[in-house]
Amino acid sequence: TAPARDRLRIAIQKSGRLAEPARSLLTACGLSWRQSRDKLFCYGESLPVDLLLVRDDDIPGLIADGVCDFGIVGRNELDEQGAARRRIGLPDAYQALRGLNFGQCRLMLAVPEEWDWQGVQQLAGKRIATSYPAILADWLAERGVDAQVVELSGSVEIAPRLGTADLICDLVSSGATLAANQLKPVETLLESEAVLAGPVKTPDDARAGLMAMLLRRLDGVVKLQD
Ligand code: ATP
Ligand code: ZN
Repeated sequence: TAPARDRLRIAIQKSGRLAEPARSLLTACGLSWRQSRDKLFCYGESLPVDLLLVRDDDIPGLIADGVCDFGIVGRNELDEQGAARRRIGLPDAYQALRGLNFGQCRLMLAVPEEWDWQGVQQLAGKRIATSYPAILADWLAERGVDAQVVELSGSVEIAPRLGTADLICDLVSSGATLAANQLKPVETLLESEAVLAGPVKTPDDARAGLMAMLLRRLDGVVKLQD
């Protein structure tokens, strides 16, 4: 188990779609840090709450390992890593505590425009490119569909044109990227948004009070935005 701490650590994305909104939200909760936007670590000034600036992919693991207490990350990433852990028999180590009303997108199946989509049974024997192999594998298994999951870390949308897959499973917001690649969305696997993630078990030291206070402030701020 991780050692006791008297300062809270929150992991947010260093750069990317969630970086600015996450920082603004925490600022609206009354947090401030010594200026070090280019650094990994920002020391909290107004409260003993520090920031870790990381890749979004690292956030679930940092919470699982007890390195961070909270993280702001897409539900897509949290669910993928949770599903991957479950597939290898690891216990749940984090949970989504609050939806944050930004970073909305959908994890969707998209097929070449010329396909006449008739339903999931059409996926049998097909190759599906994705960066979300565990969510996709669970979704296919629940429907009893035997398709091949091709894991790609990026540029998933060009896989059908390259011939490395027949269709894709990827994040969609406007749909412009799909259209530009002659793909059309056909099924939604997950409705995602940025979430505040935390541990399954609250630490039993000074952090517990800080976590409760931050959740209260966050609820106030997110409610005001509605
Ligand atoms: P990092 O360098 O931190 O790994 P990344 O390239 O994985 O960055 P971003 O593209 O910044 O991540 O996306 C972060 C999150 O933003 C996604 O995981 C998702 O929750 C959300 N998001 C919202 N709309 C979209 C979209 N159209 N495409 C991809 N992600 C989106
Ligand atoms: Zn990432």
